[in-house]
Amino acid sequence: MAKRDYYVVLGVSRTATQEEIKKAYRKQALKYHPDKNPGDPEAEEKFKEAAEAYEVLSDPEKRARYDQFGHAGVSGSSSGFGSGGMDIEDIFEHFGDIFGGFGFGFGSGGGRSRSKGSNIRVKVQLTLEEIAHGVKKKIKVRKDVACEACGGTGARNGTAYHTCPTCHGHGQVTRIANTFLGRMQTTTTCPTCHGQGRIISEKCPVCHGEGVVKGEEIIEINIPAGVEDGMQLSLNSRGNAARRGGLKGDLIVLIEEIKHPELIRDGQNLIYPLYITVPQAALGTQVEVPTVDGKIKVKIDPGTQPGKILRIRGKGLPDIHGYGRGDLLIYVNVWIPKDLSREERRILEKLDGSEAFQPKPPKHDKGFFERLKHFFE
Ligand SMILES: [Zn+2]
Ligand SMILES: [Zn+2]
Repeated sequence: MAKRDYYVVLGVSRTATQEEIKKAYRKQALKYHPDKNPGDPEAEEKFKEAAEAYEVLSDPEKRARYDQFGHAGVSGSSSGFGSGGMDIEDIFEHFGDIFGGFGFGFGSGGGRSRSKGSNIRVKVQLTLEEIAHGVKKKIKVRKDVACEACGGTGARNGTAYHTCPTCHGHGQVTRIANTFLGRMQTTTTCPTCHGQGRIISEKCPVCHGEGVVKGEEIIEINIPAGVEDGMQLSLNSRGNAARRGGLKGDLIVLIEEIKHPELIRDGQNLIYPLYITVPQAALGTQVEVPTVDGKIKVKIDPGTQPGKILRIRGKGLPDIHGYGRGDLLIYVNVWIPKDLSREERRILEKLDGSEAFQPKPPKHDKGFFERLKHFFE
């Protein structure tokens, strides 16, 4: 199923403020909340869809990528990018504060604040051919992974812990203080367990109580066709694991384009500087031209002037949103020979006198200035 536009999902305009986005999400989340719609898979889908939209639009960096590149710029897109959305537990871990004031408790944590693992940045180098067709890349990422011995809890065998007596497992404590403004209620992270909700009685000997160990993962990244140098894609929850079972960080993939030996990229168009000989320009010929799909044959008409641009439609790069492909622009240069032999000189001197070799410039060569403009930009 095609993904819906995140702005449509939340029912906000593309220029909505963060406050408007938050408000719109809260409305959707409360409407489709699993506690209100038990056993309703459609409501659950809507609930997840809204959370995914909020996850992207509430993060200025992700929102900017989404605005520029659509679903392909952020994780979980229908093109197969990312791990495919969030589960309900994740949603409550992520956005618990939004539900906090509404009396919804859910799952084991119930608004417990947990640490998040850090993001990992990796570079992926791509050829123009890979960019043209989209590519799957397998990369090895060194990162913090959950400790298997303790299931990421940091406690020996994953069981040597008890509920924090200070916060009774909530991870937060509420204090009532009398101030000159009156009675103030403040909620802070529990100082005893630092928000974990539990106390480790005996540390896991493998990770020394951290819940994470150094490891590596082979990650397959599905790179959609049409990406550009400098673009970043993010894969949710493929970054570093957090201490003692918190949320995983993200994997940020930076795209680097490897220069093509013959083709020059100009947005979605590709430019090929072609060199032909003076006789080929005069007599016409057939040449082979490289494209991202292999070589093609192109006919050069007799009397082709240098600077002519031949446009081969659809032989450029695809649009990242899937709207068609750019063109291949063949820029024709005519090679003027140097270091001539006496014989060659004599032939040319003879030709120079002939009528056909006299320049006949067009009166209004509008194309000439357009070509100049294009190449001096
Ligand atoms: Zn505590
Ligand atoms: Zn461990």
